[in-house]
Amino acid sequence: MDEILKIEQLKKSFDDLSVLDGIDLSVKKGEVVVIVGPSGCGKSTFLRCLNGLEDIQEGRVSLESEVINPVSKSTVNARKKIGMVFQSYDLFPHKTILQNITLAPMKVHKRKKAEAEGEALQLLERVGLVSKKDNYPRQLSGGQKQRVAIVRALMMHPEVLLFDEVTAALDPEMVREVLEVILSLAKEGRTMLIVTHEMAFAKAVADRIIFMDGGKIIEQGTPDDIFEHPKTERLQSFLKTFTYDR
Ligand code: ADP
Ligand code: MG
Repeated sequence: MDEILKIEQLKKSFDDLSVLDGIDLSVKKGEVVVIVGPSGCGKSTFLRCLNGLEDIQEGRVSLESEVINPVSKSTVNARKKIGMVFQSYDLFPHKTILQNITLAPMKVHKRKKAEAEGEALQLLERVGLVSKKDNYPRQLSGGQKQRVAIVRALMMHPEVLLFDEVTAALDPEMVREVLEVILSLAKEGRTMLIVTHEMAFAKAVADRIIFMDGGKIIEQGTPDDIFEHPKTERLQSFLKTFTYDR
């Protein structure tokens, strides 16, 4: 597998608060990397640095050998190749589902309406929501809105997809329908970085798991390495805070 995303000595702080303290990570095409770690350890900030939503103090992030952070004008197009799905879906309330997901491809990628709608309907079909295309976001459940948000990200044809705790705000019965969509994306070979507290899901989806704490990568390995053979005391005590299916 070829390397697609490379992070070198990434350092990020907010004023005098150091959040990321020298992160090195190389992600291969088609790899699924799950990031776990205690609340406040910098997981969201890390993902935001990867698609240029945050400026960085040191180091660099490159996608297919093009530097995308530090951000410069020439890197704007490369950044569009990284899609992100957040905990809050941020759909436009006064636009229908179909409008929500075709807006950016038409504006940013200058795609024709009919063509964008064709792809949108196929993707909605795939996540089981084609019947909701003319509904408004308020008429959908949280799990349905999150699946729409995933479709919206896919419409931009990203090379890499970032997921930041996308099920954290959902009722338990809706978590599975969203995780199943992400699992199916993993199976079709998409490159993804996923922050989650769903440990059973992490085990099922990850090629590699990264444990972050205090702005650093403390341990990484296969799900078996991380869950069955944690080496550091920090990871061991972090895992104790979860009950998960073994
Ligand atoms: P996680 O996602 O792992 O819970 P975050 O990346 O959200 O952690 O936050 C890491 C640290 O950075 C926290 O201490 C948080 O308060 C701080 N932080 C995050 N965003 C900002 C910001 N925009 N300004 C100042 N501090 C921030
Ligand atoms: Mg977070």
